[in-house]
Amino acid sequence: MRQVYLDHNATTPVHPEVLEVLIESLREDFGNPSSVHRYGRKTRVLVDEARDQVAALIGAPAASIVFCSSGTEANNTILKGVAAAKGDQGRHLVTSGIEHSAILDTCAYLEQQGFSVTYVPVDEHGVIDPEAVRAALTEHTILVSIMHANNEIGTLQPVAEIAQLARDRGILVHTDAVQSFGKIPLSVAALGVDFLSFSGHKLYAPKGIGGWYARQPATLPPLIHGGHQERGMRSGTENVAYITALGRACAIADRDMQTEAERLQTLQQRLEHGIMKQIPIARIQGADAPRLPNTTNVAFAGAEGETLLMSLDLQGVAVSTGSACSSGSLEPSHVLQAMDLAEELLNGALRFSMGRSTTSEDIDYVLQILPDIVKHAHVFNPSFAASRERI
Ligand code: PLP
Repeated sequence: MRQVYLDHNATTPVHPEVLEVLIESLREDFGNPSSVHRYGRKTRVLVDEARDQVAALIGAPAASIVFCSSGTEANNTILKGVAAAKGDQGRHLVTSGIEHSAILDTCAYLEQQGFSVTYVPVDEHGVIDPEAVRAALTEHTILVSIMHANNEIGTLQPVAEIAQLARDRGILVHTDAVQSFGKIPLSVAALGVDFLSFSGHKLYAPKGIGGWYARQPATLPPLIHGGHQERGMRSGTENVAYITALGRACAIADRDMQTEAERLQTLQQRLEHGIMKQIPIARIQGADAPRLPNTTNVAFAGAEGETLLMSLDLQGVAVSTGSACSSGSLEPSHVLQAMDLAEELLNGALRFSMGRSTTSEDIDYVLQILPDIVKHAHVFNPSFAASRERI
């Protein structure tokens, strides 16, 4: 049976070139970067080179990059760090209702600590209105945190505009760029943000490595104290092999981004036109909004997303019903709820997220099997049996 992996927003396979440097580093470069002998010096150089490669991908100075374990850790460090550093100046944060749980749960924790958080809404296309952010700002606001690309529907948020209006009022700005990092061009200067989070496993590096950009890194109090690695901003002996791998993944993304983004956009159009032609009741989320070229979130009224996912899986196609963290639970996606999606669509959404290995044959295979799968899902949903005729 054909195997088609369309869940790259959950995670990506390690790129063969990245795997090579990873294995080489694990085999050869075991020195501790803090050691002064040649083993240590060699790994220090590797970490520095990787920092340059990461920084180059987002147009940042190398000294503004801090490595850590994940996008989740980066988000926690930035939100909790700003709260700790600026809590005496104000105790209000602004974010959106469609953020990843690494932001939303951290905000909930900060609310327990006495901070207040405003969650700005999104429109029906899944896009935040900068005016809603402006209206949410108060004299007590210390941080605005708005994701760059949404992980479930792929919509791009007007981060540069939002950053401008926050910074005009002296408020710090963070963007969770985990999903756009390496997929589309990113420049911290153009975005105008003070902090940006990224994660390795979304761009063909291993899981368990990530980091953040900080315009002024030393202003952020560390979450993890210890041996002063990462200039004291994130202690713990550096994961040299994974850092090296992330550096290579960034260099590859930089090199291949334009052609890969164009290729994926063509596949995205093929998938979306094919679905709409064969299954007119389908609704593509954020279809008219600026979006990542690899992400298609589509809802089938009256079908259960979990049933569709299992049926596709049985035929070799791996997709998701929303964010990886929320699949497995039958709770409707908080992102689709925030977009005010009709009740009958909420539970019938699937996310297709393409990547390097995706081909037009993969898309054609999906288009070949999907109509029957949706039709079948409706047969088993008596309350929606009527829509069979409409497919
Ligand atoms: N932020 C976004 C937008 C994500 O999509 C994810 C992962 O799905 C994360 C943060 C968390 O990153 P990590 O898996 O590296 O902890």
